[in-house]
Amino acid sequence: MTSLEAIDRLVDDIAEAGVSGSWVARNGIERMRDFKGAYILALQVGETIDVDFAGAVAGQLAPGWYVYAGSARGSGGIRARVRRHFQRSKTMHWHIDLLTVKSLDIAALAVAGGDECELVGKLLDSCRFKVALRGFGNTDCRRCESHLLAACIP
Ligand SMILES: [Zn+2]
Repeated sequence: MTSLEAIDRLVDDIAEAGVSGSWVARNGIERMRDFKGAYILALQVGETIDVDFAGAVAGQLAPGWYVYAGSARGSGGIRARVRRHFQRSKTMHWHIDLLTVKSLDIAALAVAGGDECELVGKLLDSCRFKVALRGFGNTDCRRCESHLLAACIP
């Protein structure tokens, strides 16, 4: 499967899960409408990622496509947040930074007024996605097992 076919299927699976919004690619960030809400990142990593964050989560992520849900509701809108995710060089701050700096391909789905935990719930309920690594990206959340998911059928 080519990268384009893989992301096409992810986009379809996310839509089928009942999550809608507007997709933005790396080269479209400056034209993106700004607002507060939630977003989904679809990203492809080409190498095994060792996850070890101060003992909080530990594990390995195999090469492949991942889906991550986050939000930008405080100061700074969704465009600034997604722009940061798209940057290849940055100070490591969030778990997802481990993947975004190594992503071969990345796109974001911006969901106005959305809630990231609700998005995770919809994706899991669709049975098209599964938890990629427990405890990843949901340090502030008591509801989800993880904010990082992978497609059930890789
Ligand atoms: Zn959550």
